[in-house]
Amino acid sequence: MTPEAGEAERALTIAGAGPVGMLLALLLARSGRRVSLLERRADPRVGPAERGRSINLALAARGLAALESAGVLERVRPELVVIRGRQLHDRDGRGPLLPYGQRPEEVIYAVSRVRLNNVLIEAAASVPLIKMKFGHRVTDVDPATASVRCSEASGATVDEAPAQLMIAADGAGSAVRHALQERGLLRATEEPLAHGYKELHVPALPDGGWAYDPHALHVWPRSEYMLIALPNPDRSFTATLFLPESGPGGFDSLRTAAAARAFFAREFPDALKCIPDFNTQFATHPQGKLATLYCWPWHVQRVLLIGDAAHAIVPFHGQGLNCGFEDCVLLAELLAGGADDQTACTQFEHLRRTNTDAIAAMAIENYEDMRAAVLAPDFAMRKQLALDLERRFPGRFIPRYSMVMFHAEIPYAEARRRGALQDAMLDALLAAGMGAASELAARLMDGYA
Ligand SMILES: Cc1cc2nc3c(=O)[nH]c(=O)nc-3n(C[C@H](O)[C@H](O)[C@H](O)COP(=O)(O)OP(=O)(O)OC[C@H]3O[C@@H](n4cnc5c(N)ncnc54)[C@H](O)[C@@H]3O)c2cc1C
Repeated sequence: MTPEAGEAERALTIAGAGPVGMLLALLLARSGRRVSLLERRADPRVGPAERGRSINLALAARGLAALESAGVLERVRPELVVIRGRQLHDRDGRGPLLPYGQRPEEVIYAVSRVRLNNVLIEAAASVPLIKMKFGHRVTDVDPATASVRCSEASGATVDEAPAQLMIAADGAGSAVRHALQERGLLRATEEPLAHGYKELHVPALPDGGWAYDPHALHVWPRSEYMLIALPNPDRSFTATLFLPESGPGGFDSLRTAAAARAFFAREFPDALKCIPDFNTQFATHPQGKLATLYCWPWHVQRVLLIGDAAHAIVPFHGQGLNCGFEDCVLLAELLAGGADDQTACTQFEHLRRTNTDAIAAMAIENYEDMRAAVLAPDFAMRKQLALDLERRFPGRFIPRYSMVMFHAEIPYAEARRRGALQDAMLDALLAAGMGAASELAARLMDGYA
């Protein structure tokens, strides 16, 4: 076999040049694979970028480790804004700052989705093994040959050459997944959350300063709903309102500017005063839907689903992309590991599934934590106790949030398992009262791996 024929045989097609598709392409090219990326949008380097699922997002240890593996962390670093904890806002705009961790490195980072994606695209543009085709919308796939049908921006239909493997990183609404589902080759269900979201832009102050502390995730918890805000490098914030879609106090009840403004004036007055064009924004910004996607199998003949295409989750743990990036690292390792591609894909879906199920569940649980549990009288004490136990039993007791966000070496499923045991321990300690807690903690930890 000539070297060219060998390369063609090992060629991979990736549908979707979003962050997961791009990172995977960079990782695969590092192990010598030729990659062809098909993206429905126009090239963001030559025109205005289209909006993705959110304006900015939080990156934590898993995402950073993946960027490092692909050799692009240093390029992304200037785009990151450090976040040290949650700043709560009550109706008077006051509240505590709850640190995320207790070590200086236990922080997360806000990043613009578009800037992150562009950094990855720019990095890939200088890699000869990666070929990117923008304006190519995948409309169908033949799983037996991994050949793909696309429609171009002009409306023309093009058939891409068969590949060794086709990887679908085309997001939560994956066209590839739909095509396989229509042929009865996989089952996919979306479990919608009854709550939707709307993003609002909080500009920098007239003097160029930040409207709020830039190194915090701001949360206005109101039990049945909440507003959050993450900083952007240009000193603005992106605020996101999470609210039931219908019913009293839901999006349905905020259909007029007057109703939306009155709601904000009552619930989030310190946010409202920082959004000068609130009425226009509220009326024109889209209302997004949230759902958890369960799909199986991910691997069908020569096609593999990855990232949101395989397991989209709700955003309350800030882990959807971190998890998708973790997918990329594992898949690239397996594909480079000596097994044939089909075996590597089968290993991938089996190794990954319990972990993606675990983060899907934890993401839903964290919504309750952020909007309601944080208001409970014992919340701060519980968090404090968890941090105390971590100090006392380092490496053995690690708060669940910390395991998910700061400990990339602990798989999600393990974080969830240990988190449940630790929760029971915290319940027992709090029930015993703080006086008895110290001795009881030592006894409980003796029986805990
Ligand atoms: C409100 C909100 C906030 C979030 N916050 C966070 C956060 O803080 N931290 C975090 O880690 N995650 C967060 N997420 C989740 C995160 O956005 C996703 O997990 C992540 O974007 C998934 O990346 P992806 O590349 O798999 O899919 P996407 O980002 O959806 O990219 C898919 C790509 O495929 C392209 N595409 C789609 N269809 C086709 C087609 N037919 N043909 C060719 N190309 C196609 C799209 O144009 C896009 O470029 C949030 C999500 C939401 C909704």
